[in-house]
Amino acid sequence: MTTAIALQRAGFETVVFEAAPEFKEVGAGIALSINAMKALPALGLSDEISTKGRLMETFTIYDEGGRKLSQTSNTSLNGIQGPGNFIIHRAELQSFLVSKVNQDAVYFNKRMIDFEQATQSIIIKFADGSECETKYLIVADGIHSVARKKLLPHAKPRFSGQTCWRGVITLQEMELEESFETWGRQGRFGLGPLLDHKFYWYASLNAKPNDSAFRQFGIRDLQNRFNDFHSPIPEVLAASTDADLIWGDIIDIKPISQYAFDRILLIGDAAHATTPNLGQGGAMAIEDAVILANELKKETDVNLAFLNFEKRRLPRTRKIVNESWRVGKISQLENSALISMRNWVMRHFPASVNEKQLKFLFDVDL
Ligand SMILES: Cc1cc2nc3c(=O)[nH]c(=O)nc-3n(C[C@H](O)[C@H](O)[C@H](O)COP(=O)(O)OP(=O)(O)OC[C@H]3O[C@@H](n4cnc5c(N)ncnc54)[C@H](O)[C@@H]3O)c2cc1C
Repeated sequence: MTTAIALQRAGFETVVFEAAPEFKEVGAGIALSINAMKALPALGLSDEISTKGRLMETFTIYDEGGRKLSQTSNTSLNGIQGPGNFIIHRAELQSFLVSKVNQDAVYFNKRMIDFEQATQSIIIKFADGSECETKYLIVADGIHSVARKKLLPHAKPRFSGQTCWRGVITLQEMELEESFETWGRQGRFGLGPLLDHKFYWYASLNAKPNDSAFRQFGIRDLQNRFNDFHSPIPEVLAASTDADLIWGDIIDIKPISQYAFDRILLIGDAAHATTPNLGQGGAMAIEDAVILANELKKETDVNLAFLNFEKRRLPRTRKIVNESWRVGKISQLENSALISMRNWVMRHFPASVNEKQLKFLFDVDL
């Protein structure tokens, strides 16, 4: 959506083919990190969106007893680099972005199943039997991208060893002025405030891929794992119902080394799906939108502009995917000695060092 917005704003004729029959209200919460928020003004979206979520001053990591392991102050990052982390309901973000795309240019029920590259064009083939001839194809069909599978068959989704439940609850009496994660021995729990006394939470456990026991998990099972964690985690789970649960294994794509294929360009999760540990998948997709529009404005040869985009995006997205993978492993250690060592190091690390490490995430060259 953000790429369609960016290209339409830049004056390029852009059409979106979407597999779903409609955009439904989906998902739980999503954090738009500082770099994502820095990209939004270029899309003309920053003012309006700010009323639809919560800007967070701090992100804290606790141990399961509630002892602070580290805290990132978005205000101090803010001072250096831009606006803070913003938490918004996914459904809110999606409907907002959809409303900013020229509606005549969005075609639903158009699931691409294949494409053919000709010299001067691409023929896209859809599941409903129809075809479309286009000059260029920007592939934004997510982690299970059909086009990426054809272009790079070896690049397959990679299971992180972790599985995750998410939900949104309403708790009138709860006050929370930060988003946090708790790294316990039994798993990881995250919480962040949305608008109107709503809260977004997630719980992550180490797992085998597509584990049938976890597939059946309900709130009671999560309470068995997380009820010894510090407040308000038990209260949050007590306020949740099985119907609130969204479950999925955590996967990414091991970094690939090509996004541009003549008239075809991979962007977003189709190009660089990452684990959610740094909250960067959506952020990178938003960065892609702005950077692609800028490269297309600078270079009239579109194939060359795609290559320039690839050159700029490969190193940064690779670094983020790898770093996120690493953070995922560190956050869900199981060995007690390693956990104690990790927690000690985190508690004694000055916040400034932590913030310095995050600087590369937020210092995006748009
Ligand atoms: C648990 C979890 C938490 C996350 N938290 C965050 C966070 O806090 N911050 C953040 O920035 N990111 C987060 N992410 C990552 C973020 O959700 C993704 O990176 C982002 O949605 C990628 O956007 P995309 O448009 O590339 O792909 P998608 O959001 O997957 O969208 C792909 C679209 O293509 C359509 N489609 C699929 N196949 C076809 C086809 N063959 N033909 C036509 N259309 C098709 C789909 O219906 C969909 O609309 C999280 C991810 C997970 C799993």
